[in-house]
Amino acid sequence: MHRPSKISASILSADFTRLGEQIQAAEKYGTDWIHIDVMDGHFVPNITMGPFIVEAARRATSLPLDLHLMIERPEKFLKEFAQAGAYNITIHTEASPNLYRSLESIHDLGCRASVAINPGTPVEAVLPVLPLVDMVLVMTVNPGYSGQKFIPAMLNKVRQIRTWVEINNLDVDIQVDGGIDAETLPLAQAAGANVYAIASAIYKHPEGIATGLRTLRKLLKN
Ligand code: ZN
Repeated sequence: MHRPSKISASILSADFTRLGEQIQAAEKYGTDWIHIDVMDGHFVPNITMGPFIVEAARRATSLPLDLHLMIERPEKFLKEFAQAGAYNITIHTEASPNLYRSLESIHDLGCRASVAINPGTPVEAVLPVLPLVDMVLVMTVNPGYSGQKFIPAMLNKVRQIRTWVEINNLDVDIQVDGGIDAETLPLAQAAGANVYAIASAIYKHPEGIATGLRTLRKLLKN
């Protein structure tokens, strides 16, 4: 099944003194989604944004908001994030003891439901929920900070998930997140990814957001 390519601009590297403008710039120069990395200081060693920022982002753009919850017990906060304006909610296999139920709750709240795996988690962890999810997110760095180096071995996970998705004729996107730039995007694309969460290569591009996004979009095959 053909899945269109999408860029999800991660505001983790944006300038928060002017977040609205930074989101609107990514929209103007061609991002498909806005990726919001929610971290709680427990599941990952950093604290970032909560529903308040999601709600502010909602007011800044009409683009789909792609939430990546790197928090323990995400099931406690699903309703809040859905009400704040999420289009997609991604939760980690490692963070949710009742993964299947939590994913069903996300659908019940009217959002796309997706699952993520950390670099140290075997790819098989996503298998039981594959028929249920809209997207699998493969972490290509250890979650916590933007600007980290891409781990090439994670491409094997992308290939394996793409194979499972095709064999079973499932309607599932594969997102990569961490260290994605003009060099690594083509590798992830060749492995079978079709959604790219990108922070630094957009928001910290030396020639600005427009050039960063234009460079990345040129690499997309469809
Ligand atoms: Zn993310």
